[in-house]
Amino acid sequence: MEHKKRRGILERLNAGEVVVGDGGYVMQLERRGYVKAGHWTPEAAVEHPEAVRQLHKEFLRAGADVIQTFTFYCSDDKLELSGNVTTITGAQINDAACNLAGEVANEGGALVAGGVSQTPCYLKTNSETEVKAIFKKQMDYFLQKDIDFFIVEFFEHVEEAVWAVEVLKSSRKPVAATLCIAPQGDMNGVPPGECAVRLVKAGADIVGINCHLDPLTGVRTVKMMKEGLEKAGLRAHLMVQPLGFHTPECNIGGYVSLPEFPFALETRAMTRWDVHKYAREAYKAGIRYIGGCCGFEPYHIRAIAEELSAERGFLPPGSEKHGLWGAALEFHTKPWVRARARREYWENLLPASGRPKCPSMATPADGYQND
Ligand SMILES: [Zn+2]
Repeated sequence: MEHKKRRGILERLNAGEVVVGDGGYVMQLERRGYVKAGHWTPEAAVEHPEAVRQLHKEFLRAGADVIQTFTFYCSDDKLELSGNVTTITGAQINDAACNLAGEVANEGGALVAGGVSQTPCYLKTNSETEVKAIFKKQMDYFLQKDIDFFIVEFFEHVEEAVWAVEVLKSSRKPVAATLCIAPQGDMNGVPPGECAVRLVKAGADIVGINCHLDPLTGVRTVKMMKEGLEKAGLRAHLMVQPLGFHTPECNIGGYVSLPEFPFALETRAMTRWDVHKYAREAYKAGIRYIGGCCGFEPYHIRAIAEELSAERGFLPPGSEKHGLWGAALEFHTKPWVRARARREYWENLLPASGRPKCPSMATPADGYQND
């Protein structure tokens, strides 16, 4: 693989470059048999490093410019509460995860982002001192390693995300902050525009959305954040790492409240062509850090890199296997398949689900209804 000079995240974004993020780890590794369902904690970094390394490598090869440490939900309070009884500590997981991400990122000039997510302590105590102490502990683990920047991700309450940003800013490394919220706002009803303002005032360099809802909803919410910042006279880079699933219900609690969560989401999966459309919409909205979260597999990340290949100036490895917009099908033996070697076919296709008795939408669980 080509070795690029490793420039920092803000250097890249300040130059107006597209930064392609990586995809989702916990859900993918659960499907592969390495993560405990329901707990979604990252012990696999210690127990099955080869599985985590392989997924990092696939995202890198698909075109990711950033490799996130596999440290989702890795605060000690979450590890204890998750009930996934092991003797593995947060310190061990953070250490192993940083080594794996760093090792793979170095193979392709990618950056390593240390991920910090919401804590059970926040809902239990709402104590700024206690929650900040948890983030400080995680930050200190990360700072013993060679990470490039931080990603505050999967926060349902902007108040807690602000606390995380305030702690991580003390490291003097760049901080990106993404909330898993709907256009309706965070769980306390704070609208996206106001959330963005609070995060930037706390010191976030990059703000946006991750997880919970589908890509076009994510773009819509980030646009609301952008408008909020503009009205307040603030500036920040924009980021989006949405679900790889269709969630037309657009309920405030996101996909966790859908009946298919987490073991029957396949019918909602994005096609690579859905992702082309998403990447273009995100780019047009002024978002330059574009990646994915749960449900985003390596081929989805490759679709982002392919859609934005003119802007980035290169295609990711592996593109030649299918050709842009399926051009490789020109060599298929069946004439009707050969006829599909073109953009118009895939761009206009309405794929059938193959499940005649399935509804197109579901009713989210109580407590998470649309407003
Ligand atoms: Zn996710």
